[in-house]
This record gives sequence, structure tokens and C-alpha cells, in this order.
Amino acid sequence: KGERLRLPPWLKTEIPIGKNYNRLKNTLRDLNLHTVCEEARCPNIGECWGGGEYATATATIMLMGDTCTRGCRFCSIKTARRPPPLDPDEPYNTAKAIAAWGLDYVVLTSVDRDDIADGGAEHFAKTVSNLKERDSQILVECLTPDFRGDLAAVEKIALSGLDVYAHNVETVRELQRFVRDPRANFDQSLSVLKHAKKVKPAVLTKTSIMLGLGETDQQILNTLTELREAGVDCLTLGQYMQPTKRHLKVEEYVTPERFAHWEKVGNDMGFMYTASGPLVRSSYKAGEFFLKNLLK
Ligand code: SF4
Ligand code: SF4
Repeated sequence: KGERLRLPPWLKTEIPIGKNYNRLKNTLRDLNLHTVCEEARCPNIGECWGGGEYATATATIMLMGDTCTRGCRFCSIKTARRPPPLDPDEPYNTAKAIAAWGLDYVVLTSVDRDDIADGGAEHFAKTVSNLKERDSQILVECLTPDFRGDLAAVEKIALSGLDVYAHNVETVRELQRFVRDPRANFDQSLSVLKHAKKVKPAVLTKTSIMLGLGETDQQILNTLTELREAGVDCLTLGQYMQPTKRHLKVEEYVTPERFAHWEKVGNDMGFMYTASGPLVRSSYKAGEFFLKNLLK
């Protein structure tokens, strides 16, 4: 006890680079976009930007600055009670830059902004509508905060013209208060996902869970069941990685076989798709999964 677990071999492998990667990498420079893919040095960048079988290039863009009003114990984003104000031109400029970049599928995400009345929902929604006006073909996923359960905020985004509404429950019900900021909880997150589906049934809802935080198999199973009962369409499961020594420790490196098991469980339960693997992140190859399942 107290010692850090060693990194298992399956987390050290090289990941292939798809064919769009160089094009996107070279054209990003002058666009002033903040991609989570690059800034978080995500190991999946070659696959996500490159696109797979369907050559669907996916990237994740961060809105509303780099400073969060919350402090989850698994997350290395910097925090402040009052981050700098929003840039009112961001929805326009970001939409313009994304449209010029040539992506097929974009994930728009943000820090939590509990300091702003609507949590930034209007800002998110404007970015989506601006982007869809410029590029009606691009698929848009918003990975949003919980807005402290403010369903009017959720609704604004659900009706903005997006294709996928994502909000992460992050961990099983039992570990919520050890892992997430105290302002977050399982039921509040579930209400966000349910409301998005209710106001716009054609929008797919999606959530993500990290494994390796000490959850039991039964807890995972119960959580998946609750999510499916709430009408959540898509699910991703990935390994929790400790970002710094000050963050929650990894309790277990879940094997690729176990991840494959959960993928099967998810698919059997009727999720439209379940992406599950050690390096899977909420936005992992989101465009590929979306297309593959839509065409199936
Ligand atoms: Fe970017 Fe998400 Fe893919 Fe990582 S998993 S490269 S953050 S889109
Ligand atoms: Fe990180 Fe999101 Fe938690 Fe903020 S709310 S600390 S960005 S996980």
C-alpha cells in the first residue's frame, strides 16, 4: 500500500497514425484553436485526427478558457474561483476556424464555469449554430458541464443544432464524491443526459466512465444499467491515469481483456455503441464510431 503501481505494457504501445493526421497537423498552425488533443498530449491523436476505416477525422476543442471553477480529484486543469471573463468573440472565431480546418467530427468541450449565470450554455450553443451555418456537414458533439443541474442551460445546448450531447458521469455511483468535485453527483449528471434526450430525441446522448479507481464489477454493472435505463445511447470506458502525484492514485490497471468484457456487456445491454479500452477517452475516435454505427 502507498506505492504507485507500475505501468503495464499495454499502456506503452505505439499507436498508428491515420492518413488525415499530417494534413490537420500542418493546417492547424494559424487557426488559433485550442485542441485538447495537443494540449493534453493525448496518445490517441494519430488515430483520432487520422481517421480510421471511414477516414473520419475527430478532434476536441476547448471553449471558455483554461481555468475551471471546480477541482475534481482526477483532473489536472487549473482552477480559480473567478477565471477570466468569456471572450464574446469566441463562438464566432472558433466556429470559423473549425470550419476552415477540415474536420469531419468535432467535440466541443469546456471547463466548468460556475461563476457565470448560465454556466456558459449560451456561449456553447452559439458556437454550434455558427459552426453549422458555415459547415452543415460537420458532425458536432458537445461534451458539457452539469450546469449544476440547470436544465434550461442543458436545453439551450440540446437545441443548438448539435448531433451528440455528451456529459460524463466519470465514475460509478458509489465513488462520485471521492472522485469528482463536491458540486457534482451522479443523479445530477443523469438528469442532464435525460433532459437532453427528452427535449431533442434525435440527438444521441453519450457518457464516459474511468476504470481503475477502485470500483467493483457489481458497481460497474449497476452504473451501466442505470445509464441505459436513463436512455443514454453511447458509452465509453477507459483507464484512469493519475495526472500528477497530487491527484487520486490509480488503484488498478484494468487489463485489455476486462475492457473487452465491458464492451460486450455494454453492447448486450443495448447501447448504440460502447467503446472500451485502456486508452479510450470520451472523445476517442468519436467520428468513426458515430459513422460506423449509423451505417450499420
Ligand atoms: Fe483528441 Fe479526444 Fe482523440 Fe484524444 S481521444 S486525440 S483528446 S479527440
Ligand atoms: Fe476538470 Fe471538468 Fe472537474 Fe473542471 S469540472 S476540474 S475541467 S473534470
